[in-house]
Amino acid sequence: MDVVENIDEMFEISRALRDGNEAVGFVPTMGYLHKGHISLLERSKKECTRTVMSIFVNPIQFGPSEDYEKYPRDFNSDYEIAKKIGVDYIFYPKAAKMYSKGFKTFVNVEKLEDIMCGAHRPGHFRGVCTVVLKLINIVCPDRVYFGQKDYQQLLIIKRMVKDLNLKISVIGCPTVREEDGLAVSSRNKYLSEGERKNATVLFNCLMGAVELLKRGEKNLKKISRLTYEKFKKNKFVTRVEYFDFRDSENLDGITDLNAYFIKKSKGSILIASAVWVGKTRLIDNVLFSYNYDEG
Ligand code: AMP
Repeated sequence: MDVVENIDEMFEISRALRDGNEAVGFVPTMGYLHKGHISLLERSKKECTRTVMSIFVNPIQFGPSEDYEKYPRDFNSDYEIAKKIGVDYIFYPKAAKMYSKGFKTFVNVEKLEDIMCGAHRPGHFRGVCTVVLKLINIVCPDRVYFGQKDYQQLLIIKRMVKDLNLKISVIGCPTVREEDGLAVSSRNKYLSEGERKNATVLFNCLMGAVELLKRGEKNLKKISRLTYEKFKKNKFVTRVEYFDFRDSENLDGITDLNAYFIKKSKGSILIASAVWVGKTRLIDNVLFSYNYDEG
């Protein structure tokens, strides 16, 4: 496994892989690898002949008061994990090289970037899209792998790839969870013992909403109210940023479920939320699949 820090060197490797007709799978990460990242890498290993992973904590997707400086990093551990999986190349560029002096070009995916997480993290998705496009240009993959844990990010990237005619497949991979349901995340490391135990409230609330929908509850306002009450009861939850019902294909907000089902008789509804547990921001989502064609 090679570690490539130099952008031009990565270009040359990408060109050689292309010339050699390799099927290149690419997994962009910010490092501090966990089971979620590993599932993406293993999927790429299974489906492609070469796997490239990037480790890059992207400064332009963090807001001024966010955790860029203290974001967890452990290159040695990441290296060992990647080597064991059989990753072929780790692309590990320096921020100063990715954003050299005078950098002025950004990618915006309009509207989709302004809702949900985007409404609370202005500029976040612009930073994500810009770096992902740059990385794709450098690595030239056939397939790029993203986690459904960051569902909005996955949809925004799919939109960008389509809109900009990038000739790659974007593969969404299922969310990997701890045994108690908490979605695995590099940021879980910030949680104290008590916060960690209580962080399951997020997944439990999402599943609670699914359960109500399964039982036929159609009043989304009522489900939201009950959910906010559940969050409020947990003293470790310091803030609920959003708890949304959305069309899983285009992220349109759903308020009237009866009207929505008339419009779309089968599909899946995204239930997504961001909450703060202590000083840590957590996001998660689940899908509720339905088919009213089958009665
Ligand atoms: P990050 O290093 O947090 O930027 O994540 C890199 C990739 O791993 C993104 O595509 C994430 O969606 C994905 N990812 C993060 N956590 C999980 C998880 N628990 N399950 C599946 N994929 C994940």
